[in-house]
Formats: sequence, structure tokens, C-alpha cells
Amino acid sequence: MDARTVSVMSYRRETLSDRSVAPPEIKSVGIIGAGQMGNGIAHVCALAGLEVRLNDLSEERINAGLATINGNMARQVAKGMITEADRQAALARIKPALSYEAFGDCDLVIEAATENEEVKRKIFTALCPVLKPEAIIATNTSSISITRLAAATDRPERFIGIHFMNPVPLMQLVELIRGIATEDPTFEAAKRLIEKLGKTATVAEDFPAFIVNRILLPMINEAIYVLYEGVGSVEAIDTAMRLGANHPMGPLQLADFIGLDTCLSVMQVLHEGLADSKYRPCPLLVKYVEAGWLGRKTKRGFYDYRGEKPIPTR
Ligand code: NAD
Repeated sequence: MDARTVSVMSYRRETLSDRSVAPPEIKSVGIIGAGQMGNGIAHVCALAGLEVRLNDLSEERINAGLATINGNMARQVAKGMITEADRQAALARIKPALSYEAFGDCDLVIEAATENEEVKRKIFTALCPVLKPEAIIATNTSSISITRLAAATDRPERFIGIHFMNPVPLMQLVELIRGIATEDPTFEAAKRLIEKLGKTATVAEDFPAFIVNRILLPMINEAIYVLYEGVGSVEAIDTAMRLGANHPMGPLQLADFIGLDTCLSVMQVLHEGLADSKYRPCPLLVKYVEAGWLGRKTKRGFYDYRGEKPIPTR
């Protein structure tokens, strides 16, 4: 064995032993994106006693996220689910983060920004240099490859998919997705966090859209085709699936709730990732997104939410 081989081997041993250090218990969480998912994740983390830093593209968007959390917690107090003291304490644990520097002492950063691979890659490139070495990075992506996103970081072994469902404070499930390099301590830390939040984790392999969205989004896309082909109106389709399949929400109502941009993005990932024409996004979905009719968050999608009652747009 020559000297070079020995030094390569000892380098490998060092790298491996560094990586096998158990990640810390997660006490502080940074969240990137204060939209519907990011503010929901901040909400449940703060109620579980974690210190939270919330980031978005502008102070205005962070404040909008904080206002939503405030309102949602007030609703929980009114329903007797939490006390006013819980609410006050949780709100005090959430601090706005105007830049990633505020994440320097976080044990975990959860990326919950727009569902766009380029956006997420840029975030990870800027984020990694400010994090402590043992910090874990998670993504809340609905569909993008965890392995590919992990490769945009300096720590694929400490990278994992933690996929919360919408609305986060109400939904019980969280999908955990390992990338090819995710190490066990990272997975265990994520699992413990989900337990601390009082939620149930299920494990999915790193395939496009994982489990829930692999099944749910093609159904929504099919409902949009049914509308596009004139088989039924918005109201007929939603009523059919609510009363005929016992779904709590119609598929078009659900699409508006998820966000039509997110729905389109998940269908594109399925279409490209699985190369099967059955995942072709419906042209009508594309048209709504091009119009900026993204559902509830923009007050217009398959329904118009600007008035007192949602009115179907077709
Ligand atoms: P959203 O549009 O409500 O929020 C996205 C937020 O990210 C916006 O506030 C935007 O300003 C912010 N953002 C964009 N680029 C950013 C950047 N570079 N830095 C910081 N913030 C940035 O979207 P959402 O529904 O909250 O989805 C967020 C993520 O969660 C996506 O990956 C989505 O696929 C996933 N997700 C969504 C749902 C759902 O039902 N909507 C469910 C599970 C997971």
C-alpha cells in the first residue's frame, strides 16, 4: 500500500466518522418560505416548544405569514384546542429572519419555498455557508427528487424530505423521504421531531411526488380534464366526488386549496420523472396558472373567492 492510498483511506475514515456524529436534538428550527406551508410549519413547531425563525423574500411576506399564524392560533384558542397562554408563548418563540444569517444557530432548517427546483437550489447554495456543520436541512417539496436537491447542498447525509400536509396544524400525516445519502441519525432526528409535533410519520421512497401526491394529483388532474372536456361543470364535478366518493372536499376545491401552481408543478415532475403520458398536465390547468389564477391564495382559481361565497369560474 503506498502512502497516497493510506492518506486517501484515512481521509475517508475521518470523513465517515465526522458524518456519523449523531445530530443534535432539534430545539431550534429555521423555516424558509412563509407561505401557506411555511407558516403552518412555524405554527406547529412553535406550539411544540421549538424556537422558530421564519424567512421569506420580504419583510412584508414574513409579516403576512406571522399574521396568519396569529389568526390561526386565535381560532384554536376559540375552539378550546390551546390556551391563550399557549398562544402567547408560541408566538413569542417565532422570530422573523430577514436573512439566512439568522439561521446560524438552528439545529434544522426546513425549506418550504415555491415548488421550483431552481428556486430551491439557489436557496441551498446561499444557505449552506451560514449553517453550523451539524445542522440538518429538510425540504418540504411535494414532488422534487430529494437526492437531487441534497446534491445542491454541502451535506447530503444531513438532508431529508419532511413533507407536511396542508393545512399543517390540522393534518396528521408527515411523509419522510430519505435521499440516497441520508444517514440514519438524520432520519431518526426527523422522526423524533415529527413525534414531538404530535404527528404521524410515514416513509416514502425518493420517487417523483412520493406517496400522497403520486396518488392525489393525477386524480385532481383527471378532474380538470373532466372539466376541460365538458363532461361536467366545476360544481357537478365537486358534488360528484363529495357525495359519490365520500371525499370531504371536491377535487377542484382541493386544487384551489393546494394552489394551482403547486398542482401544475407536481404534474410536471410526475410527467418528466416517470416519462408516462398518463401524467400529462391538463392544458386547462396550465391556462389557469398562466392567468395567475392560482386558487385561494390569489382569490381566484376554479372558484372565485372575492365575494362572500365561492363562485365557480366555469
Ligand atoms: P406558497 O406559494 O403559499 O408559499 C411559498 C413561499 O415561498 C412564498 O411566500 C414565497 O414568497 C416564498 N419564496 C419563494 N422563493 C423564496 C426564496 N428564495 N426565499 C424565501 N422564500 C421564498 O406555497 P406553499 O403552498 O406554501 O408551498 C411551499 C412548498 O411546500 C412547496 O415546495 C410545495 O410543493 C410544498 N407543499 C405544498 C402543499 C400544499 O398543499 N400547498 C402541501 C405540501 C407541500
